[in-house]
Amino acid sequence: MPELPEVESLAAFLREHAVGRAIARIDVAAISSLKTYDPPITALNGLTITGVARYGKFLDLDVDGIHLLIHLSRAGWLRWKDALPPAPPRPGKGPLAVRVHLDDGSGFDLTEAGTQKRLAVYVVRDPAEVPGVRSLGPDPLGADFTVETLRGILDGRRTQIKGLLRDQSVIAGIGNAYSDEVLHVARMSPFKLAASFTDEDVTTLYDAIVRTLGEAVERSRGVAAKDLKGEKKEGLRVHGRAGQKCPVCGDTIKEVSFADSALQYCPTCQTGGKPLADRRMSRLLK
Ligand SMILES: [Zn+2]
Repeated sequence: MPELPEVESLAAFLREHAVGRAIARIDVAAISSLKTYDPPITALNGLTITGVARYGKFLDLDVDGIHLLIHLSRAGWLRWKDALPPAPPRPGKGPLAVRVHLDDGSGFDLTEAGTQKRLAVYVVRDPAEVPGVRSLGPDPLGADFTVETLRGILDGRRTQIKGLLRDQSVIAGIGNAYSDEVLHVARMSPFKLAASFTDEDVTTLYDAIVRTLGEAVERSRGVAAKDLKGEKKEGLRVHGRAGQKCPVCGDTIKEVSFADSALQYCPTCQTGGKPLADRRMSRLLK
């Protein structure tokens, strides 16, 4: 799933390749991906892309005052093509959701793998019309995200830090992968309660967030959109690496599974060597 660093890189890529170009036509192959109807998506035809922004994991193309907002969700991706096929795609076939043709024949596909279709496209006059954008917490790479901001977020919350970091209304842009990475860098248990953080813990976590995301953005800068996914995987230290060796201490990375996701962590680095209870496993054993 693309998170802040990947969406930031896609935004940078589109700033370079799409800004200044006019939209020729947009093909909607998966009608369920289009979440708004006013203005219609055809209102974008002939208008020039004047800017590209990112809000959390949302990508925002400013098309001469109308906004095309994209949320790639879990299995979505943006594929740039220097030359798009001009024929309209057959609806409902394959992973293609939306195809954006630019006036020079280039453009991009929004695709989504798997059966759960959650990729979302919005055409709005103001990005804040999109509920998921309106409710976003502060951006961790924004100038106004300080240690004090984070302290205010954690203060008094009886919530496990892993879940809090992933909550888009608390902090924007961090998902399952980078929350694992941040907690490994901070050497903290994913189950540590936010309310238990000391001043020193808050500073440690803050540094880990800014460093982990900053480095990931730096790594993917200039990487072509098609190579971003591989780049993300290579840069991860614990996420998706259960059973492998921790690159810091050599211990075996462990996993806790939930209904529809899993987290990975290093016991030596993060939990004093103790394995965390895997609730799904213990439930099965009962
Ligand atoms: Zn370790």
